[in-house]
Amino acid sequence: MIGAGLAGAAMAQCLSTRGWRVDLFDAASGPAQAASALPVGMLSPHVTRAPTPLSELSALGVDHTRAELQRLLPPGRGWQACEVDNWGHDPGRWPAALVRPSALVQAWLDEAQATGRLTCHWNSPVHALQARDGLWCLQDAAQQTLGEAPTVVLAAALGSAALLQALSGASDWRPWPLHPVKGQMSLGPQQGKPLAPRPQRNNGVFVPRYEDADMPAPWPQRLWSMGSTYDRGHANTEVTEEAHARNAESLRLIFSTHEAAPALGDAPWQGWAGVRCASLDRLPMAGAVPNVGALQAHMARPGAHRTRLDLSQVPRLSGVYALTALGSRGLTLAHWCAQQLALQMDDQTKHAPHDLWRCVDPARFVWKQSRRQETHKPTSASVASTKL
Ligand SMILES: Cc1cc2nc3c(=O)[nH]c(=O)nc-3n(C[C@H](O)[C@H](O)[C@H](O)COP(=O)(O)OP(=O)(O)OC[C@H]3O[C@@H](n4cnc5c(N)ncnc54)[C@H](O)[C@@H]3O)c2cc1C
Repeated sequence: MIGAGLAGAAMAQCLSTRGWRVDLFDAASGPAQAASALPVGMLSPHVTRAPTPLSELSALGVDHTRAELQRLLPPGRGWQACEVDNWGHDPGRWPAALVRPSALVQAWLDEAQATGRLTCHWNSPVHALQARDGLWCLQDAAQQTLGEAPTVVLAAALGSAALLQALSGASDWRPWPLHPVKGQMSLGPQQGKPLAPRPQRNNGVFVPRYEDADMPAPWPQRLWSMGSTYDRGHANTEVTEEAHARNAESLRLIFSTHEAAPALGDAPWQGWAGVRCASLDRLPMAGAVPNVGALQAHMARPGAHRTRLDLSQVPRLSGVYALTALGSRGLTLAHWCAQQLALQMDDQTKHAPHDLWRCVDPARFVWKQSRRQETHKPTSASVASTKL
């Protein structure tokens, strides 16, 4: 397993409780130190007028994560139930929860560790995967072996992209359209009466009050927050005054239309910035990793008909899986996807809703690309040689 954020921890928990022995490698010195270090995030459904794959996935995922929260964490120690008022699209009041992702990550890792089948390897950036004698060899930048296993799950958010690209070989295709989206949240200590009875969403979410007895420094145990900004293509985690100003503007829009302008106290605003990993169609990537070279070779064969190959027939790399591109919905999607992927890895695909699982298949981009390539029309010479 590579990556110890929401995706990797959920995967480690699902696999180890199903009997797998898991070695977890992460470049950081501990769990949840990248996007999953978000001080507080919202678990809420993605409501649309007509159902879409994302709205259906999110409905399943919200219920699933809420059950995980209730099972693993006492309220007030990593999460609290709430409702959210939506003012923009999908107007209305929806059930939601405020969650500190690192609490959930730790709870999943604790549960995995309790099985005795999880070993964590911190400060272990994986630079490359090499196939060797039926095993995948994880190598660092100096080509030293970090570990070997017959099965690997890439749950390293954007870090997965470089590893996947290297596995695809030199290719002019673009099978992994993953991109960074930087976000900054503004927050501060919540004092006195909260500015609203519940979170308000309109081009960002204002959380009037979140209380967490285990909140790590430097964040206040009781805080308000406003966020987050969206900067597509940016991959740094610098907190800027300019992003605070954009959050202040979003806050003003929420309150100027509905209540008096807020006063959040005199304390200087604190900020947290992280980088989301998003795919081209905004859906996650969860499933078996395609063998891009084998697919290209298949398509180049004389007589290969590009539109006849179903997604399920795309050749896969034996033993390599991905759970990445959770975008802005890691809380909603990580554990539901991890559970479905663990079932798939145990050959129990009948439990996954077939159509939705196709929508998150990591092979979907390269499959679509292969269908757009020029069909190889057999020449008379190649037909003749085939007949001979
Ligand atoms: C500002 C902001 C606000 C957000 N708000 C919400 C919200 O309200 N609700 C919500 O659901 N989501 C929210 N998100 C999104 C959420 O944080 C992510 O979807 C989620 O954390 C992604 O989890 P992950 O495990 O895929 O990635 P990460 O948490 O980024 O973990 C990836 C891990 O992989 C490791 N890694 C990377 N490359 C390598 C390598 N080569 N070798 C070894 N290890 C490697 C990293 O060290 C890291 O630990 C927000 C994100 C941001 C930035």
